[in-house]
Amino acid sequence: ATPVSLTTGVGLGAQNGILIRSGDALQTASKLQTVVLDKTGTITKGKPELTNVVTENGFDEDEVLRLAAAIERNSEHPLAGAIVEGAGELDLPQVAGFSAIPGHGVEAGVEGRGVMLGNAKLMDDRGIALGRLEAEARRLADDGKTPMYVAIGGAAAGVIAVADTIKEDSVSAVAAFKRLGLEVAMITGDNQRTAEAIGRQVGIDRVLAEVLPQDKAHNVQKLQLEGKKVGMVGDGINDAPALAQADVGFAIGTGTDVAIEAADVTLISGSLRGVVTAVEISKSTMRNVR
Ligand code: ADP
Ligand code: MG
Repeated sequence: ATPVSLTTGVGLGAQNGILIRSGDALQTASKLQTVVLDKTGTITKGKPELTNVVTENGFDEDEVLRLAAAIERNSEHPLAGAIVEGAGELDLPQVAGFSAIPGHGVEAGVEGRGVMLGNAKLMDDRGIALGRLEAEARRLADDGKTPMYVAIGGAAAGVIAVADTIKEDSVSAVAAFKRLGLEVAMITGDNQRTAEAIGRQVGIDRVLAEVLPQDKAHNVQKLQLEGKKVGMVGDGINDAPALAQADVGFAIGTGTDVAIEAADVTLISGSLRGVVTAVEISKSTMRNVR
């Protein structure tokens, strides 16, 4: 039978908007040594907004944005929403043969030209020379923005950058994790420089970036193989396998159902403070059990 104080701990969690699935999860949360935080939607609000359009090879800003947005209308990625919204009143043409390359970008035919939009890896795979756009992208990433390259008809045409706001509580939550003696890491599919810039802003020094969606769980497992008890916090479909792999998975309640189903703990609010509170409740409960 579950000891009474474990039941009390689960109840205390519920009063604080923290739904703990089992006494086991509550117990394990007190032993966590590392907490891995998804970036987009977990540390940040997950609602990126268009910030910059830089062009090259004679293309103009509206043209690059119009073609990019025409393609992104077909994508459900948060980056896509930012670009479509950023295109505002521009008239978007129909596209043909849309395809998404997970973790890399999107492509389609637009007005008889092949158009692609995504990260450096995608451009590299397709043999697109980036020229001075590479330095532009680096500068944007160092500001914590996510740059995406656009190629039109086989030539580099521009860089579109979006920025996502850090949630109000993220900085204080990271500091609280550290005070509790936890190592804090960030995991993201976003590029290394962007991730490091966000990491600096919230006080995280261990950054796992450019991680493909299917590799997030594997990264959690690698930390476990270092002998650590690992907590994972995420909101997206991509995070579900990592949430299941972690010793304790925490889902942001405002995230996708798939993440919530895979997790041991659900935070009703979107704040990372909920994870801190969960660990605190767990530690005080375990003191009572002992
Ligand atoms: P995240 O963890 O940020 O959601 P993803 O694995 O979904 O990361 O994407 C990684 C990178 O691939 C993005 O930062 C972006 O550069 C590129 N990418 C993915 N999907 C798209 C898209 N729909 N449009 C443009 N770029 C994309
Ligand atoms: Mg996310």
